[in-house]
Amino acid sequence: TACLMWFRRDLRAVDNAALSRALLRHKTCHCVFVFDENILRLLPRDDRRVAFIHAALQELDTALRQHNGGLRVLHGDPTQLIPQLAAELHCDAVYCNRDYEPYARERDAQVAAQLRQQGRELRSEKDQVIFEQDDVVTKQGKPYTVFTPYMRAWRQQFTPLLTQPFPAPLAGALAPPTEAQSLLSLAELGFAAAAQQAVRLPTGRTGGKVLLQDFALRISQYKACRDYPAVKGVSYLSAHLRFGTISIREAVRLTMDIEDEGAASWLNELIWREFYQQLLWHFPDVVTQSFKAEYRQLAFPGQDSWFDAWRQGNTGYPLVDAAMRQLNQSGFMHNRLRMVAASFLVKDLLLDWRRGEAYFAAKLLDFDLAANNGGWQWAASTGCDAQPYFRIFNPVSQSEKFDPDGKFIRRYVPELAALDNKAIHAPWLAKSLPSGFQLGRDYPEPIVEHAIQRELALALFGKK
Ligand code: FAD
Repeated sequence: TACLMWFRRDLRAVDNAALSRALLRHKTCHCVFVFDENILRLLPRDDRRVAFIHAALQELDTALRQHNGGLRVLHGDPTQLIPQLAAELHCDAVYCNRDYEPYARERDAQVAAQLRQQGRELRSEKDQVIFEQDDVVTKQGKPYTVFTPYMRAWRQQFTPLLTQPFPAPLAGALAPPTEAQSLLSLAELGFAAAAQQAVRLPTGRTGGKVLLQDFALRISQYKACRDYPAVKGVSYLSAHLRFGTISIREAVRLTMDIEDEGAASWLNELIWREFYQQLLWHFPDVVTQSFKAEYRQLAFPGQDSWFDAWRQGNTGYPLVDAAMRQLNQSGFMHNRLRMVAASFLVKDLLLDWRRGEAYFAAKLLDFDLAANNGGWQWAASTGCDAQPYFRIFNPVSQSEKFDPDGKFIRRYVPELAALDNKAIHAPWLAKSLPSGFQLGRDYPEPIVEHAIQRELALALFGKK
């Protein structure tokens, strides 16, 4: 019997749960990816993610061809295209890996309903996490809403068996596309080919493997280095985990081979990823509102012009500006800076966290609804296990602590390059500035005063 493997955020031929299951159960397996027009039409024409996916699909197609298969790439509405293709190819079942985002759940429910009408089945597998949905719950069967007990339960339930790779495709079982079609180009999809150069990350399965191998050499230093944006301390694997060019099992396996506090700390971050995914599954309302009911009615008094300054990296706070410019230029922002920039938007500029969340969602190459929403609600103190509202990052001391030599600031805010290591964190406080440099002309004065805004934030959140 024949089946259809529908790739989504699992763009690899190896260690892929649904593909592996499909090949075990069926004699012939067709493979497809759909560029979803419902998502694509909302994106700018130079969106980096489309380019990243495109590059990953090219490699996936090549990998499938090595097993005498190949990838059909369609463009349109998957709720129509998938049932149509399944019928055309006489497939009994369509296989996919589960996606926990509300849009994906609704889409998959529609596809499943249509397939059912045709007498076919949508079969989904767990692939993008080690534990999903109700896999890790409290003794009372309730979802965890605090990270530490979730993490402990996660670790208790974890066994190395769970990271066993799924078997690779068998030659002969994969069916090549019937028509000699080549992958649609970015231009044919209506996107700028130049977006490819804007992806400043090795792409595809090979790119993910290069990053994973490189990080394996540095993982022991992860705990010590992870908070310093000027240091190559983190893995830069987020986009690969997002699109599945690296599997979560490969990532977790890395921590098992290396037993030290660097690896333990990195595993914790992978558990945060799962914590937020199960949270989104159980509480999909977090997409539109604060997890904590007491903060749902907050009226944020911040000005629109402040939002523009934040977005463009012109707030006058060097580390915040460097962070936002890194995001705008590369589609990436270091985790420490995501926390600083998000806290600044909410607690200093007194703007609704959802505006910042949406901006990150538009710009991040690794944008993931669960992690982004979780990160924003954490920083805004509105989330389930969030930073308490009275703990407010000071953007200057964060800068002095995590970019002590101003190396990261100098990279992204070159107009401050000549300032000394003290002045660079808060130029408006400097006793002397380099000759020729004028604050307010060459670099903005701070748009707000942290000490004042801090009090306003405390009053806003304290009142509830
Ligand atoms: P590493 O430090 O090497 O971590 C390894 C992996 O663990 C990451 O690739 C990621 O998959 C996962 N991870 C790490 N930290 C977190 C975390 N706090 N929450 C969930 N997963 C985590 N991460 C995203 O993948 N997509 C997002 O859209 C996203 N938005 C964020 C927004 C805010 C406001 C904050 C504070 C954090 C956000 N994060 C997001 C989490 C984190 O900042 C990034 O995963 C990390 O910076 C990516 O770099 P890395 O791959 O080098 O991470």
